[in-house]
Amino acid sequence: MKIAVFINEHKPNNDIDKLIIGEAVSHGLIIDNKNPDIVIFVGGDGTFLRAVHHYLPIIQSVKFLGVGAGNLGFFYDFHPEDVHQLFTLLEEHELKETSHHLLEGQILTENGIETIYAVNEIRLENPFHTLICDVEINYETLETYRGNGLVVSSSLGSSAYNKSLGGSLIDHSLDLLELTEIATIQNNINRSLGASLVVSGDSKITFCGNFKEALIGYDNVVIDQHDVIRLEVYRSSKIVRLLHSPDYQYIKSLRRSFIK
Ligand code: NAP
Ligand code: MN
Repeated sequence: MKIAVFINEHKPNNDIDKLIIGEAVSHGLIIDNKNPDIVIFVGGDGTFLRAVHHYLPIIQSVKFLGVGAGNLGFFYDFHPEDVHQLFTLLEEHELKETSHHLLEGQILTENGIETIYAVNEIRLENPFHTLICDVEINYETLETYRGNGLVVSSSLGSSAYNKSLGGSLIDHSLDLLELTEIATIQNNINRSLGASLVVSGDSKITFCGNFKEALIGYDNVVIDQHDVIRLEVYRSSKIVRLLHSPDYQYIKSLRRSFIK
């Protein structure tokens, strides 16, 4: 079995990466950062997002496992002192595996189509002037939106930006999309849903308009495309697989991230 160790270059990790490499080698595993079977990321939920984007070309054949440099979060269940035990659990096939669809976005511009992928969410934002955007769900018009922007979150991303915007938390085992508004203008003339909307995972959410000043963001990435005509967001066929400790439960990750 081949192991890669992925770290956040900008965050100190107290040589946890070296500890993991030493343990992996002593358990007879091979270190291969190019073509691993398992990526062990060191850091937080944000480091997991970066690891997924780094290994996107081999996402179908790789599994992710996280060791926290401090607290534990949604995507990582192991402390540095658990590293020895983690390799024993791995050898004995005792780790719990979950799999989740990525989000996929198609950006249609005057020059063609670009495809993007995200774990948490795909966002359309205009921090400069009112974003005016026609919103369709499964090609049926919902509304003309006016405000700072719109976010389409996955269940995995529901606890990230979506939560800060007042969206619902969604159990990671549910395959759903959530559409949430950012600082919407609501008055006698302009009206939109004004609530976050959860739709089935096989829905397609489309934003149409003139997005000359808008920014498209996904996970930790922001791109400013100035000729966007349409943005379509839907569930990707690409799947990300996570390994957890044997006693992992979604409710535990909620408690340790938000309650204590
Ligand atoms: P980042 O520092 O990597 O992440 C920002 C914070 O979000 C960190 O505390 C991170 O936790 C946490 N986080 C990431 N994914 C999460 C998830 N699925 N559930 C709960 N918490 C999560 O920042 P970044 O690189 O700019 O962007 C990454 C993410 O930040 C985006 O996907 C977006 O969801 C989020 N974001 C949030 C806001 C907001 O809440 N106002 C605004 C913009 C972006 P760790 O400390 O464990 O890494
Ligand atoms: Mn060991």
